Amino acid sequence: MNKRPLYFDYAATTPVDERVIKVMVECLGFDGNFGNPASSSHAFGQQARQSVEQARRQVAELVGAQPEQIVWTSGATESNNLALKGVAQARGVPGGHVITSQIEHKAILDTARQLQDAGVAVTYLVPNADGVITAEAVSEALRDDTFLVSLMLVNNELGTLNDIRAIGQVVRERGALLHVDAAQGAGKVAIDLAQWPVDLMSFSAHKLYGPKGIGALYVGPRAEQRLQAQIHGGGHEGGLRSGTLATHQIVAMGEAFALAQSGFAEEHATIVRLRERLLEGLLSLPGVRLNGCAKQRIPHTLSLTFNEGEFNSAALSTSIAFSATSACNSASNAPSHVLLALGHDARSASRTIRLSLGRYSTEQDIDQAVNLIKAAVASAPAFWAIAP
Ligand SMILES: *Cc1c(COP(=O)(O)O)cnc(C)c1O
Repeated sequence: MNKRPLYFDYAATTPVDERVIKVMVECLGFDGNFGNPASSSHAFGQQARQSVEQARRQVAELVGAQPEQIVWTSGATESNNLALKGVAQARGVPGGHVITSQIEHKAILDTARQLQDAGVAVTYLVPNADGVITAEAVSEALRDDTFLVSLMLVNNELGTLNDIRAIGQVVRERGALLHVDAAQGAGKVAIDLAQWPVDLMSFSAHKLYGPKGIGALYVGPRAEQRLQAQIHGGGHEGGLRSGTLATHQIVAMGEAFALAQSGFAEEHATIVRLRERLLEGLLSLPGVRLNGCAKQRIPHTLSLTFNEGEFNSAALSTSIAFSATSACNSASNAPSHVLLALGHDARSASRTIRLSLGRYSTEQDIDQAVNLIKAAVASAPAFWAIAP
C-alpha cells in the first residue's frame, strides 16, 4: 500500500478514538450490551437503557444542558432538519419568516429551501468581511413574523465563530426561537446552554472522534412545545424522534463527548501551538491570505488562499489530505458558497484550501506539510514572476 497522505481534514470527519471504539463494540455481540433500550421488561433492555441514559448525561454535560433536553438523531443533518422543519410545521405553514445565513452548511441551506417551497419567507444574511454574522445584522433582519433564526456556532470552512450569546439576546427580545448548528463547535468551544439564550442546538459525533451516523438535538424549554417530529413510529425520544435507539452509536457519542470534556484545555492548547507553527510556516510565503477573522475563530480550522498559479492543489492532495473548496459542496464541483459569500470569485475560491487540525496532528505533520506546500509553490514557475 502507498504511504497515506498526512491528515489535515479533521473538519470533514475525525477517526474514532480507540477509547470510543472500545465502548462501542461492547454494545454489539451476544456477550455484550446488545439489548433494545425499549425492552424495559428484562435485564438486556434495562442495561441498554442505562447506557443510553449515561451517554445522554455525557453529551448534556459537555454543553451545559440537562440530559432530558438531548434528543438522539442520526447526525447533525437530521438535527438541522428536525429543528427547521419541526419548528416551521409546529407554527404552521405557509407563512412566517426565518433568518439564516449564506455561509451555513448545506444541511441548513437545503432545508431552508424546502421551507421556502412550503411558503415560509427566508432571509439569508451576508457575512461581514471577517466571515462573521453579527447580532446587528440579525437585529436588522428580524421581522414581526420571524419565528426562527438558525445560525452556526463555528463555520466549517473558515473556522470563524459567531457571537451566539449576543445574537440570542436579540432573538429572544423579539420572541423568536434560535437554532444553532454546533457540529463544528462542540468540544472546541466552551458551550453553556444553561446560560446561553439558545433554544435548539445540533451536534454530530463524527466531528468529535465518535462514529458517523449519530448526533443529537438539544431542545430547550422554549422550543419543547414548538417542535414537530419528523420521523414517526413508536414515539421514542419523547415522541420527537422515533426509531430503535442505536445503543452502540449512542454510547460511543457519549464517550466521545466525555473525552472531549476531560481533555478540553490540554487539547486546545496543543492545537493552538500547532496552528501557530503551521501559520508561521505558510504565511511566510508571499501573497498567502487567511480567510475569515484572525481572532474570532477556533484554532483547528484554517482557510488559506494562495496566489494565482501558485500550485496545483490536486497534485498536493496525494501527499496531504485537505479540503479543496468544493469538497463541502459534495457531489457538485461548484465553488464554495462560503467563499463566494465572502467576496471571492470562482478563481480565487479554486486557489483556496482548508487545513484542519485535530487530536492526532503532530509537529512533524505540520513541518512536513509546510515543506510540501512550499515545495509545491516553488515548483510553480509562473508564480514568482507574476506575484503582485
Ligand atoms: C458535518 C456538519 C454537518 C453534518 O453533520 P452530519 O452528522 O455529518 O450529518 C452539519 N453542519 C455542520 C456545520 C457540519 O460541519
